[in-house]
Amino acid sequence: MSLTKYTEFRHFTPKDLEAIPQVKKLDPEIRFSMKVVSQVLPFKVNEYVLNEIIDWDNIPDDPIFQLTFPQKGMLSDKAFNEVADLIKNEAPKEQLKQKIDEIRYSLNPHPAGQMQMNVPKVNGVPMPGVQHKYNETALFFPTSGQTCHAYCTFCFRWAQFVGINELKFASKEATQLVEYLKQHKEVSDVLFTGGDPMVMKTRVFKRYLEPFLDKELDHVQTIRIGTKAVAYWPQRFVTDQDADEFLEIIEKLVKSGKHVAFMGHYNHWVELETPIAQEAIKRIRETGAQIRTQSPLIRHINDDSEVWEIMWRNQVRYGLIPYYMFVERDTGARNYFEVPLVEAWDIFRNAWKNVSGLGRTARGPSMSATPGKVEVQGVTEIKGEKVIVLRFIQGRNPDWVEIPFFAKYDTKASWLDQLEPAFDEAKFFYEPELEEMQAKAMAKAG
Ligand SMILES: *Cc1c(COP(=O)(O)O)cnc(C)c1O
Repeated sequence: MSLTKYTEFRHFTPKDLEAIPQVKKLDPEIRFSMKVVSQVLPFKVNEYVLNEIIDWDNIPDDPIFQLTFPQKGMLSDKAFNEVADLIKNEAPKEQLKQKIDEIRYSLNPHPAGQMQMNVPKVNGVPMPGVQHKYNETALFFPTSGQTCHAYCTFCFRWAQFVGINELKFASKEATQLVEYLKQHKEVSDVLFTGGDPMVMKTRVFKRYLEPFLDKELDHVQTIRIGTKAVAYWPQRFVTDQDADEFLEIIEKLVKSGKHVAFMGHYNHWVELETPIAQEAIKRIRETGAQIRTQSPLIRHINDDSEVWEIMWRNQVRYGLIPYYMFVERDTGARNYFEVPLVEAWDIFRNAWKNVSGLGRTARGPSMSATPGKVEVQGVTEIKGEKVIVLRFIQGRNPDWVEIPFFAKYDTKASWLDQLEPAFDEAKFFYEPELEEMQAKAMAKAG
């Protein structure tokens, strides 16, 4: 197996778009579009993605090109033309910035009530780094893990581009997290997320992971690490200087009795196939940790049942466990990436039916919406009315889970809030209770 060595992590952001050798060769019109869109939406790509996963003979259709490079269709024509004109006319910086901010705000930067409803407190002090929506699982956003090795064009966390990497944050946050978890024995799972926690150096990440070796956190049985590094920078687990040291900590956690699960974001099967991606999988699995996989279904990137079928089949082949197919969220460039729910179900079904039972561990298509994770179970007809069947996989109230409910058939709807209850009912069954919860949260927030 030959692995290309990258001695440093070299990456490109909007200001050096023109410095990317492969980009220089593209059509000037595509290049200008990329420049315009990257003013508004974040952009970052690294040499590995450029050299080893994008097929430069297939531009603009290549899925990984679509996944990492800004595309014209990601902005409305109006927004695109406004920014394009400002750039062409060399408008003052302030004017450009104002326009960019205005467009960003119009793109629903904070979807699914994340700002108001899920921030818990420890001893009365809010913990902005923690989200605790479902009883058994707390999400943790370490300050130093709020960026990624490359950015996905569809990312729903696009609004949080920051990046201060300080050890002192790590220690302080870890102490708070441990305090919170000690007071919440119902938490069996902690999910490290970001950005991507794997952008943290081992010496930083260690501060967060080591407390889980302590008896005090015995009730936390699973540590999940949500990461795209397995696809965007598998070097993190193989050739990076602190790769071995990181895997040693994981192994130690496993040996201490924790279940460690990497939630690997693979959006397309091509990301699994390079020698280094395979080596990363192998090395992670050798620690005793599992890799479960998830991805949204995204137009222009993986809106094809065959892509999912191959992806799930190969994941099982390499020892990974397919976990979620998500519906693209209602934020950012959603018009460009969204796939209607009925079509999403069709793609899911056509992939699912062709893989072995071991690949059918994937659930979905699932919407992470304000009331919970809602899965599209299918389309059927009940007493002459065509309906979409839904269920909660996770609910803000756990009692909502697994109860089938029905929406009017709608081939255009692409998110829960665009669906209407079937059978002429006024509301979905959970809505009155959800409204109450929201009112309470608002009152509390003052
Ligand atoms: C998806 C999700 C989880 C984890 O749910 P599982 O079904 O256990 O994978 C936890 N918290 C939030 C806010 C989520 O969206």
